Amino acid sequence: KGERLSLPPWLKTEIPIGKNYNKLKNTLRNLNLHTVCEEARCPNIGECWGGGEHATATATIMLMGDTCTRGCRFCSVKTARKPPPLDSNEPYNTAKAIAEWGLDYVVLTSVDRDDLPDGGAEHFAKTVLHLKERKVRDPRANFNQSLQVLKHAKKVQPGVISKTSIMLGLGETDEQVYSTMKALREADVDCLTLGQYMQPTKRHLKVEEYITPEKFKYWEKIGNELGFYYTASGPLVRSSYKAGEFFLKNLVA
Ligand code: SF4
Ligand code: SF4
Repeated sequence: KGERLSLPPWLKTEIPIGKNYNKLKNTLRNLNLHTVCEEARCPNIGECWGGGEHATATATIMLMGDTCTRGCRFCSVKTARKPPPLDSNEPYNTAKAIAEWGLDYVVLTSVDRDDLPDGGAEHFAKTVLHLKERKVRDPRANFNQSLQVLKHAKKVQPGVISKTSIMLGLGETDEQVYSTMKALREADVDCLTLGQYMQPTKRHLKVEEYITPEKFKYWEKIGNELGFYYTASGPLVRSSYKAGEFFLKNLVA
């Protein structure tokens, strides 16, 4: 036993303050989420959560509550033989918080739950599914919302030429591309562009696949078959790509 050693100067860290720190802390409390950063009293919390203007903001979310069924003697996480039941909203809330924070890096870990028959595997899987659903697009936008806007535009102004775009190369399947194109045509969209997604910076989503020019041609053919007034499809095609040229050629003439 003996006396507790006093902390040497190189282990003294700044008291965590700052906008990012407060934002993370508030979301965690509101959504009933926990982090190892807090529960394990990690000394890096100010630096990790603060991120600074140019630094990488990081957090480690601890799933399955704040109480562990084990009791490692170096660990400050609460322990109990029978912790409270899992929060069924935790997988959804975790994805929601992560999408809202826009952190550079998130680690998912958990307490041990030896009391659960599957040790919490299903809960983990649900969290990953929710995360995958949310991360590609900002949570404030979704496909159905875009479809409704396009439909509405046609309804209030039937003469208007509507146009939309799809990015390829994010890991989508052919069936998904086809069903999206079909849904757009059914929403009376007139013009469609398809282009290759390019990773803007290394902090953005990675390119999963570079679609070949031949495949882009194939989608153009499908677009024509589905009855779009105009389909532009190619690796460098962008939503506004040659928009002026297209307008003059197809709509003014
Ligand atoms: Fe500590 Fe890891 Fe959390 Fe950083 S992310 S505060 S190192 S637990
Ligand atoms: Fe802490 Fe539980 Fe992990 Fe042990 S198993 S280190 S008590 S969280």
